[in-house]
Amino acid sequence: MSIQDNILHIKKSLPKEVTLIAVSKTKTNEQIIEAYKAGQRDFGENRVQEIVPKHEALPKDIRWHLIGHLQTNKVKYIASFVHLIHSVDSESLLAEINKQAAKSNRVIPILLQVFIAQEETKFGFSFEEIEKLMAENPEIKYPNVRIEGLMGMATNTENQTQIRNEFHSLKNFFVSLNTQHSILNTISMGMSSDWKIAVEEGSTMIRVGSSIFGER
Ligand SMILES: *Cc1c(COP(=O)(O)O)cnc(C)c1O
Repeated sequence: MSIQDNILHIKKSLPKEVTLIAVSKTKTNEQIIEAYKAGQRDFGENRVQEIVPKHEALPKDIRWHLIGHLQTNKVKYIASFVHLIHSVDSESLLAEINKQAAKSNRVIPILLQVFIAQEETKFGFSFEEIEKLMAENPEIKYPNVRIEGLMGMATNTENQTQIRNEFHSLKNFFVSLNTQHSILNTISMGMSSDWKIAVEEGSTMIRVGSSIFGER
């Protein structure tokens, strides 16, 4: 199927309140334009070196999401245009985003990445670390960032029950956090292999690459 067909196919089975992020990392501007022609406006990239030239070259109504691990020394290159940073995994990164956002006269929306997988390699905060951070008035400490929600990645496994349990625990944590702070509206979970489970477990944003653009 074509890129356009893939997008329409996914959108058909997606509840209206769930946003589809087309993950275009390693893909060309021509492929992104194909998706754009299907009405797609939210695109995700995981590297600063890729998101910057793509933002410069492609239509200005595209909303660029940074979804991969972000080094503090690279925040300055994306602060002026990034739509949502999904992968905030340390308080020092939060502080740097706040600083660079202020320089751009912006409030940058971000998600806190939560570690939910049974893997060594995934970045993110623990539930306890997020509770602590949220209890310390981040909106006052970091006025140029807006914490909109949480992001998580399930373990890369065939075990559907394990994936479901991980998404379920993230959703439960999101709900309990919101009873205290009630400012969060976004839960970014689900990729090509597991987005259907993620949506059943309450995702509001899925990040899909290979099911749209083909294997990388
Ligand atoms: C690459 C990537 C995705 C998309 O992965 P697919 O399996 O191609 O859908 C989603 N989220 C993050 C953080 C990624 O790095």
